[in-house]
Parts: sequence; structure tokens; C-alpha cells
Amino acid sequence: MLDHPVRDSGDITALPCSPQSGLAKIPPSKYLQKGNIEIIFAFFKFGRLIVATSGVVFSGVLMDKSLTFEQGPIRPPSEAGSLLIRVTRNCPWNRCVFCGTYKNRKFSRRSVEEVKADIDSARAVFDQIREYSWVNGQGGELTHVVLRKILEDSSLPDSYRSVAYWVASGGETVFLQDANSIMLSTDSLVDILNHIRMRFPQVLRVTSYARASSLVSKSVDDFIRLRECGLSRLHVGMESGSDKVLKMIKKGNRSDQLIEGGRRVVQSGISLCLYVMPGIGGTELSEDHSRESARVINAIDPKYVRFRSLYIRRSSELMEMESQGIFQAPGEDEMVREIRDIIARLEGVNTTIVSDHILNLLEEVNGKLPEDKSRILSLIDRYLNMPDEDRILFQLGRRGGAITRLDEMDNPVIRSKLLSAKRHIESEMPGGVPEYIQAIKKRFV
Ligand code: SF4
Repeated sequence: MLDHPVRDSGDITALPCSPQSGLAKIPPSKYLQKGNIEIIFAFFKFGRLIVATSGVVFSGVLMDKSLTFEQGPIRPPSEAGSLLIRVTRNCPWNRCVFCGTYKNRKFSRRSVEEVKADIDSARAVFDQIREYSWVNGQGGELTHVVLRKILEDSSLPDSYRSVAYWVASGGETVFLQDANSIMLSTDSLVDILNHIRMRFPQVLRVTSYARASSLVSKSVDDFIRLRECGLSRLHVGMESGSDKVLKMIKKGNRSDQLIEGGRRVVQSGISLCLYVMPGIGGTELSEDHSRESARVINAIDPKYVRFRSLYIRRSSELMEMESQGIFQAPGEDEMVREIRDIIARLEGVNTTIVSDHILNLLEEVNGKLPEDKSRILSLIDRYLNMPDEDRILFQLGRRGGAITRLDEMDNPVIRSKLLSAKRHIESEMPGGVPEYIQAIKKRFV
């Protein structure tokens, strides 16, 4: 499964703040009307900030600090701007050898009532933020003034920052956490989805992670019901289509389950996003991994395939396997070659290829099949046919954040800077650029 830490909402300069969020304006609510006169009076009497029994008065608006809701640790990169609603905690499987996200965390289900209470809290926070906006002359919109105030005030619980960030990102998408929400009964999911729609009618997309073993426990009719209640996309950590690889990494499902479950999702009209992990077959199963992954993708025809190249986490079981010589990780170029082999084998699919994870070396490997296939393959070949030193320089530049596109290698100024950085690294680190890149990658995950 693709893991991406839940956002740090501290940097507001990076936020796509939209003053026109498209949400219906609402008038200031009760907090500035009758019942809270005393609190507001106290606010003006004693200074800028008054902590009330259960809240904090915030430039004239009572923000209720008890309004919190749970959030899990990760979401897919494409859900960076989504409101996170946690329907289960952690991973019910928790055995994949490369994954440390939920290690030592116990799986539990949350009751539908608990989840609905979280959705209610998120709505109440949403209302209070808008009220703050009204009271402070921002017309009910989430302007930078409002956002800055919310993000910078450490007395507010995280729920305020999460909702503010969500609204700033458009406020139209929701992601159900954690690792396998689809394992809940269809009735429970329908109940939760309906509640999201009731509290946030503006939401256009609701998505979730799902394991292949749970997909096959639902029928096409179940998925159609879920789609009709608002579930629009499922993110599935396929990793590989090779049964040998799936067994080696203890994924807990087979390729026939991936195919059957994936087809049911596609047939229901829910958008399916499969995550493939270049490198996870190791050097030994590399060919099997590419060939079989392409076979499974061809059989499913998912809406999206996202690549997330292997990075071996410290203290993962895969690292132990590597140190025992059972697993040998491919290098950067071998993983690029695997991506090429998979894409070259895709036939008869209308799939969009996405490389939006920082662990992928070639960020430009994006496009819709079949029309963009030859362009994507040419781009990969261009990289693979570069002289050895140029490939190393590109890796250095990409991993160090200096460049993202192959074209940038033609810039003599960038090239000369990369060359001098390479010389410096080689004089300082015994393992040279590969050791430096490994150290940088640690910061990515
Ligand atoms: S299914 Fe595997 S990869 Fe996904 S969260 Fe669980 S242990 Fe990690």
C-alpha cells in the first residue's frame, strides 16, 4: 500500500487557499447572538484571548476545543487535500514485509456511531471557522487571513487545522481511513457515506484504501450501492501481479483475487487505482514481477496505475531479508527498467499512468494509455540511454530536489553545479552518490 504521511498543515505559504471555495455562505451563528453575551463581554474586558469552560474565544467567536475527530497516519498522495475520516484503525493484515506503517499498532473497527460523531464534529468545526470568517470581515470565506489565524493558533485542536486545510484545498473530497475501510459491511459503509453527504453536501469525491482480499468479499451490486451513496474511488496496494512476489512479500492475496476484485470494482463504475511497486520482486524476480504485473493490469483495466518505487525501511522484515541475502534490491536504473517493461506490455487498457510519489526517479512518466504509451516509453528510453555519468547526475539532481525533468540536464549551469556536487560527495562519502541518495530517500518516507 502506498503510504504518505498525513499532512503537516503548518506551512500556509504552500496552501492553495481559495477565497472562493464554492461553499454556500452561512450567517454568523448563535455564538455571537444571544446566549454568549457574557463570554463575549469577558473577551473584551480581559484582553484578546479568553479561555471559556470548553472553548476558546477567538477574535469574537467561541471555538469549541472539544470538537475533535480521529485521524490515522497516512493517505495516498492524491488525497493530500481530502478531509480524513477514520472508519477503522490501522491494518487488519499488518504482515507485508516492506511495510512498517502500522507495525505494533493494533487493528480495531470503529462503530458507525463513532464515525458519524466524528463527521458531526468536522461539520461543527467547519461552521465555526466560517463564523470566524464572517465576524472578522472575511465574508464567510476561508481567506488567507482566516487560514493563518487557524493554523497559527496552537491552542486550537488539530481538528481546526485539518478542516481549514481541507477547505483551503477545495473542500470537496473525503478519504476514509485506515488501511482497508472496505472490509466494513456494505450497510455500515452506506450509513457512513450517507452521513457524509448529509453533513457535507458539497463533497464530490469519497475514496478509500482497500485490500484485494476484501474486494472479493463484495459483489458488483454491493459496489454499485456504494457508488450510488458517494464512494467514487478505491486505492488498492497491488504491489505486484506475480504470485511468487506476492507470496514472498506476504501480501496476503493472490493475483486471481486482485483480478476478480478489481474487475468487480471497475464493473460497478467506481474508479480503481492500483499501486504497483517497482523493485519489490528484487533482482531475482524482477522479470516475473514486470510480466505478471502487466498481465493483471491488462485483465482489470483500472482507471489509474500509480508507481511507487521500492524503498526498504529500517527495521522492516524486508531489511532483515536483505541483510540475510534472501532479497537483493534492484538499483534505481533497474526499477526504471521494470516500469518500462510493465508499460510496454500494457495492451487494450484505458489506464492513466501516474508517477506522483517522490520515490519514483522519473516524475515525468505520466499519461493516458493507449495514446501516450509511445511518448512515455521514449522518455524512459531517453533516460536509460544516457551515458552512465549523466544518469548519476540526474539521480543526484532529482533526489536532491534540484531538478525534476530530463530536459533540465541540458542546462549547462545546472549540469556544472551537479558535477561539482558529485565531486564533493565522492570526496566526503565512501559510498559516493548512491550512499548520499540512500540517505536522502530516508527523509522521503
Ligand atoms: S496491507 Fe500490507 S502494505 Fe497495506 S497497510 Fe497493511 S501491512 Fe501495510
